[in-house]
Amino acid sequence: VGSAQLEKSLGMKTVHQLGFVKLLDVMGNDEEVENAARISYGEGTRKVSQTRNLIRYLMRHKHTSPFEMCEVKFHIKLPIFIMRQLVRHRTANLNEYSGRYSVMSNEFYLPEGDYLAKQSTTNSQGRGEVLEQQGLLQFEFNRIYDGASMAYQVLLEHDLSREVARAVLPVANYTECIWKIDLHNFFHFVKLRSDSHAQREIRDYANAMYELVKPNFPLCCEAFEDYVQGATTFSKQEMEVIRELLSYTDAKAALAGMSVKDVGVLESKLGKRESKEFLEKLKQGDAE
Ligand SMILES: Cc1cc2nc3c(=O)[nH]c(=O)nc-3n(C[C@H](O)[C@H](O)[C@H](O)COP(=O)(O)OP(=O)(O)OC[C@H]3O[C@@H](n4cnc5c(N)ncnc54)[C@H](O)[C@@H]3O)c2cc1C
Repeated sequence: VGSAQLEKSLGMKTVHQLGFVKLLDVMGNDEEVENAARISYGEGTRKVSQTRNLIRYLMRHKHTSPFEMCEVKFHIKLPIFIMRQLVRHRTANLNEYSGRYSVMSNEFYLPEGDYLAKQSTTNSQGRGEVLEQQGLLQFEFNRIYDGASMAYQVLLEHDLSREVARAVLPVANYTECIWKIDLHNFFHFVKLRSDSHAQREIRDYANAMYELVKPNFPLCCEAFEDYVQGATTFSKQEMEVIRELLSYTDAKAALAGMSVKDVGVLESKLGKRESKEFLEKLKQGDAE
């Protein structure tokens, strides 16, 4: 990646010992999301006075297209096995370092500390207890990395094409890419990859990317955290249980039946408008 792009960087975070995420470019800001949304309503047809309120409304009601008007572009250095997860996010545009054209790096991801944990017994895709014998485990990683690195060099010295020689490199080998995505799909990526179910290594990347993006879109990010990242959806059956427990079968009746204190608590947490929406949600799917 050329130095011009490095100079343009709007912020950088290192990830693990050798990786990094660099924010190269940002298109738009909170106000751009608002401007795009206002086209939908037209002047005078709808009065939403504050940018924050409008953005929160859009996020809450999954009116997502205004968020697609903004974009973020990164330069990312990451191990190939994380690249394989990143590349699954098809709504991003990306261009990766070519191992056919260029010599691959001799850098490899070496897990350390509590990253070296046992296979989880409860989650077949996850990690469990931390392992003690770090030195021994890292020795095994390094043994393969040294061997693969050496074999790769020897193959290149024998004039084997780079596109074939790279086949000996492990998936811990570092690669680099330029990755661009619109804000809506970036939030979707962060929601999936900052989640506790995602592999810890990609979580580290997603969190670092999010931290770089957040200062550029403070209101959108606040709304994302409140209504998407920190939110949970309930199944129809779960809703039935919730309704039964709360005995709120009807939003109006619920409001009418609430004491001044109950309404106060609800509204202090959610505000007037969202309290009404919350009660309506509890009512949803209820037999008329
Ligand atoms: C914890 C976790 C575990 C995973 N495990 C595995 C695994 O074991 N094996 C595996 O192969 N993958 C796995 N994945 C990858 C996962 O299945 C998705 O491919 C990845 O998360 C990208 O999500 P996405 O398709 O929603 O995102 P994007 O590709 O960014 O797409 C965004 C949205 O656009 C729409 N969209 C995009 N392309 C299409 C299309 N072609 N057709 C229809 N709609 C489309 C969908 O609504 C989609 O949600 C895992 C992901 C996570 C987070």
